[in-house]
Amino acid sequence: MDDCIICKIVSGEVPSRKVYEDESFLSILDVDPCAEGHCLVVPNEHVTRFYEMDDDKLAHLFRVVKSIARKSKKAFIPGFVCVFIRGGRISHLHVAVFPSMRGDPLSGFPQSSFEKIDVDLDKGAARLSAASVDCSESSGKTRR
Ligand SMILES: [Zn+2]
Repeated sequence: MDDCIICKIVSGEVPSRKVYEDESFLSILDVDPCAEGHCLVVPNEHVTRFYEMDDDKLAHLFRVVKSIARKSKKAFIPGFVCVFIRGGRISHLHVAVFPSMRGDPLSGFPQSSFEKIDVDLDKGAARLSAASVDCSESSGKTRR
């Protein structure tokens, strides 16, 4: 996509600090980090929603995310490595991977950053349960 900052990073038009790269995914340091070692894992293709990806590609993405989380654990020795899957504000799927220490602002996110809302949990559970999606359903081919 022509105006996508992440596509420009993938193509090399915008410089980045790469920490991992393969034929399908790239991991870079976020230029506006929440923590030292805050990385993004992005697909080389312009994809917006992880839940619309082919299952094999999604599995590959999570293998990369796992390896970046393990690198983060070794490099920064955090209490935990957090992951957020994004794609709303910037329409190119990006998985944020960053180290978090107990008590830091990331460790309680999102509950620590949002006011509690009053919702009917039973109604929410019923709506989700009734939404018909086969858990074995795939948007692409699946190995069985
Ligand atoms: Zn893009």
